[in-house]
Amino acid sequence: MAKRKALVAGNWKMNGSLELVEQLSTKLNGFDGDVEVLVFPPFPLIKSAIDSGLSAGAQTVSENDAGAFTGEVDAKLVAQLGAKYTLVGHSERRAIYGESDSDVANKFAKAQEHGLTPILCVGESESEREQELTEQVVSRQIDAVIVKLGVAALANSVIAYEPVWAIGTGKTASPEQAQAVHKFIRDKITALDSNIAQNLRLLYGGSVNDKNSEQLFAQEDIDGGLIGGASLKPESFESICNSAKGNG
Ligand code: PEP
Repeated sequence: MAKRKALVAGNWKMNGSLELVEQLSTKLNGFDGDVEVLVFPPFPLIKSAIDSGLSAGAQTVSENDAGAFTGEVDAKLVAQLGAKYTLVGHSERRAIYGESDSDVANKFAKAQEHGLTPILCVGESESEREQELTEQVVSRQIDAVIVKLGVAALANSVIAYEPVWAIGTGKTASPEQAQAVHKFIRDKITALDSNIAQNLRLLYGGSVNDKNSEQLFAQEDIDGGLIGGASLKPESFESICNSAKGNG
């Protein structure tokens, strides 16, 4: 059965510059193939990235509409810049800023309300994996969205499986480990709506680089990647994007 269109997204976290926008847009200008490529720069660079021809989204959005929320950025404004996507529930947002499953579900809802496609990040910590709680944790994180919005909301979304122990550590999940969790996620959603599950793009994130991406992306239920550190290096990122070709 044909896989879904591959998606490779770069999460710059709190890194990047106008120079990086320029370098990356030059590198990816004319990138063709059956792969959708996206970048998630810090908020002040989103507009420049879009103006330079990149597809760009936000790393998070507020769960509120515009108002007295100093320091927050609302989904409507992000959409007005021409962004199509936002990350929600990245593990750094959950761990450092205390976002709960319910906060993440609220952000997911707000993103969709304003026309952004949420990329829901899920994944277990190292100790949760050691205690064999991976499926339970990932299920709980996805269920928070399903309980709030119904399974139909997943039709216009992407899920990124990012084991916390693999993010920024150089410890990538093996293709088999990653595929097993991706299959678990797809099977879980298939039990609720097989059509949504079949079309839902599932990304792997966690120390993906230009050496390991091809094998990861070749797995049946892995439809691309969410790339942190390597997305800040234009050559590596281009090579990772190329490695997703033919996997859509
Ligand atoms: C991330 O930030 O989502 C990520 C996967 O980072 P890295 O690729 O650096 O592990």
